[in-house]
Amino acid sequence: MSLRLYNTLTRTKAEFTPLDPAKVRMYVCGPTVYDYAHIGNARPVIVFDVLFRLLRHVYGAERVTYVRNITDVDDKINDRAARDFPELPLNEAIRRVTESTAAQFHADVAALGCLPPTVEPRATEHIAEMRDIIERLVRGGFAYVADGHVLFSPAAMDAANGTLPRYGALANRSLDEMIAGARVDVAPYKKDATDFVLWKPSKEGEPGWPSPCGIEGQGRPGWHIECSAMSWKHLGEVFDIHGGGIDLVFPHHENEVAQSTCAFGHGLMAQVWMHNGFLQVEGQKMSKSLGNFVTIHQLLATADFSGRAWHGEVLRLAMLRTHYRQPIDFTAKALEEAEKTLLAWRADVVPPSVADGEAIDALSDDLNTAAVIARLHRIDDPAVRAATLDFLGFKATAAEIAGHDAQVRGIARAVDEALVASLIAARLEARRQKNFAESDRIRDELAAMGIALKDGKDPATGEPVTTWDVKR
Ligand code: AMP
Ligand code: ZN
Repeated sequence: MSLRLYNTLTRTKAEFTPLDPAKVRMYVCGPTVYDYAHIGNARPVIVFDVLFRLLRHVYGAERVTYVRNITDVDDKINDRAARDFPELPLNEAIRRVTESTAAQFHADVAALGCLPPTVEPRATEHIAEMRDIIERLVRGGFAYVADGHVLFSPAAMDAANGTLPRYGALANRSLDEMIAGARVDVAPYKKDATDFVLWKPSKEGEPGWPSPCGIEGQGRPGWHIECSAMSWKHLGEVFDIHGGGIDLVFPHHENEVAQSTCAFGHGLMAQVWMHNGFLQVEGQKMSKSLGNFVTIHQLLATADFSGRAWHGEVLRLAMLRTHYRQPIDFTAKALEEAEKTLLAWRADVVPPSVADGEAIDALSDDLNTAAVIARLHRIDDPAVRAATLDFLGFKATAAEIAGHDAQVRGIARAVDEALVASLIAARLEARRQKNFAESDRIRDELAAMGIALKDGKDPATGEPVTTWDVKR
């Protein structure tokens, strides 16, 4: 069976041929763990989960390696940690933020029917590989040290002869265009406006590691180098598929290509580059200031979005109705329709037989999930339909889907809110007295009652405040 994929690099849809069919390798940029993932972040996770399932079907489950990283070093994480846990040393606060956010992310995407990736590397565990690549780039003349930083020079890459790609080839931009578009306030240590950071110095108290290239003092990596290092470690110098949202094409993926091809001397980093389109909510770009920012957790477990909670598979189906490269408008109406459809498809409870060939063919045509869903509407045999739904990552029964809202929000209503409030007050008091053993004990007591806490600060007074939610 042939699998055809659209490649951002060539701007065409072509037959996919793995470099080594015994080891099919895919890398997808994962979350930066500082806050709840929003429903836009769910899109690449669902889309590439469908591709992962299809690749496993075509090549054999044990022959496919899917790597999705966790970015656990970032200024946004540091800011969040300092704000939420001002009483803790920064590194300890960062650990709390990244661990709880990653755990929430795992719970959210599991509820959306996504398989865990084969490997989930963390940036902070790959600093040695990052230093290695950075030193290769400096040795090769593609990067330079300035003022405690290491910077990559796209101009040096373009001046090199040989098999290297042109900087800008993935995003289809020219270096001249990029120079013209560069901001005026370019950091003084950069030779060219388009140079980007591979390594930067850490301030006192910030997370840091010994710097490469003989630079004194501790530093930390730039964002782009993280993915070059983690994909290299787990997939090798050149691999098959690299994915992420369309916003990552430039500069993130362009810079990953530049780093990896210059460090390893190949013309490619990945053969096929795949990008999902953007998601908006009820016709508007999602943003905190517009008040339409919606997290996966809110949709699954609260009534915040549309007056009720939604089963994860309803969210999954609503997402897959649109082809992954198209923009998607995420609406309450689409969720209602997706739920109705799933309930109808699951009306008969039968053991699954074999997934429908026509549906798999449609999926193999650049993940045409819209055509798959149209096909599902036409499948009469409930056993074939059940197998096809299984194939796509749907497994909930009609009863689970129909009962989801009442179940999660019924639990929420049954909670003794006065008791929760008094325990939270006691915990805040324990934290004020720096009695962290007691505050952790109260957190655990609430967790055992099924209550998850979220610590923050009152934006007006700066006082610590704690909100709560019922864990799913
Ligand atoms: P970030 O944490 O912003 O780096 O995003 C993690 C992943 O979610 C990346 O692959 C982004 O491209 C993707 N993403 C972020 N926002 C959206 C959105 N509104 N629609 C679709 N994908 C998104
Ligand atoms: Zn990346």
